Amino acid sequence: MSKKAIEKVFAPAPPHFVGDGFRVHNFIPGQGRLPMQRMDPFIMLDYGSKHYFPPREVPRGVGVHPHRGFETVTIAYKGRVAHNDSSGGGGVIGEGDVQWMTAASGVLHKEYHEAEFSRQGGEFQMVQLWVNLPAKDKMSAPKYQALQNETIQRYMLPDNGGEIEVIAGQYKGVNGSASTFTPIHMLNAKLKSGAAADFSFPATYNTALLVVEGAVTLHGNTVVPTDHFVLFKNEGEDIVVAATEDAIVLVLSGQPINEPIASHGPFVMNTREELIQAVEDFNNGRFGHLAD
Ligand code: MN
Repeated sequence: MSKKAIEKVFAPAPPHFVGDGFRVHNFIPGQGRLPMQRMDPFIMLDYGSKHYFPPREVPRGVGVHPHRGFETVTIAYKGRVAHNDSSGGGGVIGEGDVQWMTAASGVLHKEYHEAEFSRQGGEFQMVQLWVNLPAKDKMSAPKYQALQNETIQRYMLPDNGGEIEVIAGQYKGVNGSASTFTPIHMLNAKLKSGAAADFSFPATYNTALLVVEGAVTLHGNTVVPTDHFVLFKNEGEDIVVAATEDAIVLVLSGQPINEPIASHGPFVMNTREELIQAVEDFNNGRFGHLAD
């Protein structure tokens, strides 16, 4: 086994707003960022770094919109997100919780700051990832996995060094809480200052990490500050993450699906024809109905 080399450390791009509630730095995909194929099956990553929202009666957020062809994974680090969808479902993603939504053949949903959080105001910090689906599953039935923090399986590091929350995949024999369509490891490493954790993923898996809190040193020599994203080369297997202060690191590794990607806004399919169909289905109300 050998060290997984670092390809690039990305500083956060200037933030932009999704709706009026999600102030995010985009890492995938975009200008000067990673194209969808590079981190496949992780085809979109928006990171809302810690930001204070003053109190407001009418919750900020993003109104009704569709998705088809992939999954959205929302991780709330600070604050609370409320969501409603066209199947009549809804809920709150609280601090530390993860929502794994399989849009697949199509959902309409809306995402807002939770009402009480909005009234009180407060610090908000979140990640939204889009996880691609293989062609054979793109038109399967939508589903939700609401992972409450206390139900997420975790590995305790020795000497009170912290813990690894296994959102999906596995870590040192602990199996992740979410079921996935393709092999994916999604780990939230919460490291105490001075502690280190090691990770091992196949060289062929696309692998990256995001420092959400604190700062870490990789392989003993590369310092990565808060809000920075690290892309690894597809060489070597092993990563050593050492926390130079209390740190939270989101670690992502997945087997590439390696199928053609055709994307248009909230639709990610394999061909242009499928995108045209998605737009037509949406315009004809075939994604169901959801009130504003
Ligand atoms: Mn959405």
